[in-house]
Amino acid sequence: MDMLYGMVANETPRYRNSYKVDVSSLSKAMSAAVDIEELKKQFLECPICNELFNDTDRHPRVLPCLHSYCYTCLKTLIEQSKYTCPLCKSDFFVQNISVDSFSKDNTRRDLLDFVRAGDNKSVIQCDECENEKAISRCKDCFRFICKSCQAAHKTMKTFSGHEVFALDGFELSMDHVSEFRHAGMCSLSNHQKNQLTLFCAGPECQKPICYSCCLTCHMPTNYKKHITRDIEEVYTEKIKSMKENKDKILKTEKELAGLSKV
Ligand SMILES: [Zn+2]
Ligand SMILES: [Zn+2]
Ligand SMILES: [Zn+2]
Ligand SMILES: [Zn+2]
Ligand SMILES: [Zn+2]
Ligand SMILES: [Zn+2]
Repeated sequence: MDMLYGMVANETPRYRNSYKVDVSSLSKAMSAAVDIEELKKQFLECPICNELFNDTDRHPRVLPCLHSYCYTCLKTLIEQSKYTCPLCKSDFFVQNISVDSFSKDNTRRDLLDFVRAGDNKSVIQCDECENEKAISRCKDCFRFICKSCQAAHKTMKTFSGHEVFALDGFELSMDHVSEFRHAGMCSLSNHQKNQLTLFCAGPECQKPICYSCCLTCHMPTNYKKHITRDIEEVYTEKIKSMKENKDKILKTEKELAGLSKV
């Protein structure tokens, strides 16, 4: 009990402080000391085939031990009814399980794109066209794009409002990290390009939704059933109530610890 109390009580302020300091010092450290080739080898290559992860056949997938392998290698690995994680040697028993049921390691995929954008030594292919060199990246599509795709972004209505930045002169800096992190997208078909910016607070829903959801399946015509709210607001409220609950638990633990000493 005492130990748990000590750990939790110390954690919040330390995290808060270190977060503030880390962002600027990390960006300096990254540009100064990080060897991009080594970073790729250590974190962004599949440990079995040593190929860089990607968004298709080498999409990183997570094993129950939380180690990631590419889609292609994992498919082969789970062909046997018992397989062993090549990194930590944990054994797993499976039967007729599909590789698609393993979670995608999207954070690793986002990190890979971030590192590739800052790696001026290697050429990036356009994510849309084959064999075209990418010259920029769209912050809204999360894709590397070539000259003609960039032109399409400027003229086509579908891409209106999309922000595109040039890869030339792009530097690995923590200021750019958020441009690579995929915000939550709606999983409903025809909504997949929509970010989850709203929250349905209906008693049976209680989940993030996109603006199309709000106009269709979560239409707030029946006020008691679907209630549309701003997701940021809900987030702030939930964090606040989580903190309050944590404080209550800590208080009770402190009281209990005091009692047991008597
Ligand atoms: Zn692999
Ligand atoms: Zn493992
Ligand atoms: Zn775009
Ligand atoms: Zn293209
Ligand atoms: Zn939706
Ligand atoms: Zn709803």
